[in-house]
Amino acid sequence: MAKESLTPGEVRDMMLVVADRIIEAEPILTDADRALGDGDHGVGMERGMAAVKEALAGQDFPTVGKVLLSVGRAMMSSMGGASGALFGTLFRAGGKAVGEAAVLTGKELALILKDGTEGVMTRGDAKPGDKTMVDALYPAAEKAGEVADLPVAEALAAIAAAAAAGRDASEGMIATKGRAKTLGENSLGKPDAGAVSVAIILAAMSEYAAT
Ligand code: ADP
Ligand code: MG
Repeated sequence: MAKESLTPGEVRDMMLVVADRIIEAEPILTDADRALGDGDHGVGMERGMAAVKEALAGQDFPTVGKVLLSVGRAMMSSMGGASGALFGTLFRAGGKAVGEAAVLTGKELALILKDGTEGVMTRGDAKPGDKTMVDALYPAAEKAGEVADLPVAEALAAIAAAAAAGRDASEGMIATKGRAKTLGENSLGKPDAGAVSVAIILAAMSEYAAT
């Protein structure tokens, strides 16, 4: 049944689904980064999510925040590259934002995405329109603010749709940050690899909450 809210154990299980979906998507992420960057994004995310699975599987967490902090630490310490620091920051800032929350509702989701996205923007010095993961995260965070009162499954469905639309919109942007910026107008027509990852992460979260 579609979930109203999630316990820390359910958030852990949701992140294990996220890890599997990202690992399955390695070829897609590799192709996306090959088109505009250096092609290592898929393997980096795969390595990060393998570390996440190791950190979460079979562990009990007292709070939602502690699950997310553990995800952030695992990604940051295993991935390297721009995206290791940025995805690590996303989950660590998101985990800090919910403090001692014992359940994840639409309200916590909104806080996680707001502070997580701000953390990424500060760390990467990126804003919407630069053709980075921020272009999927920012609209997702905005949508999360709008749907914070909905049951978590419904909120996540709307947030995942906003992230997917942001990923698609990144195709029409000219890169001004990261490796792709050297391509200038040649970066048009393809989505940003990090935005593809963000859309997969939020789709997997929505998939878990819907069942
Ligand atoms: P690297 O660029 O070190 O090869 P990855 O290939 O793993 O790292 O990740 C590339 C992704 O990281 C890009 O597609 C983009 O979404 C994100 N990224 C790179 N630089 C920045 C930045 N300054 N701000 C926000 N996101 C960035
Ligand atoms: Mg790369």
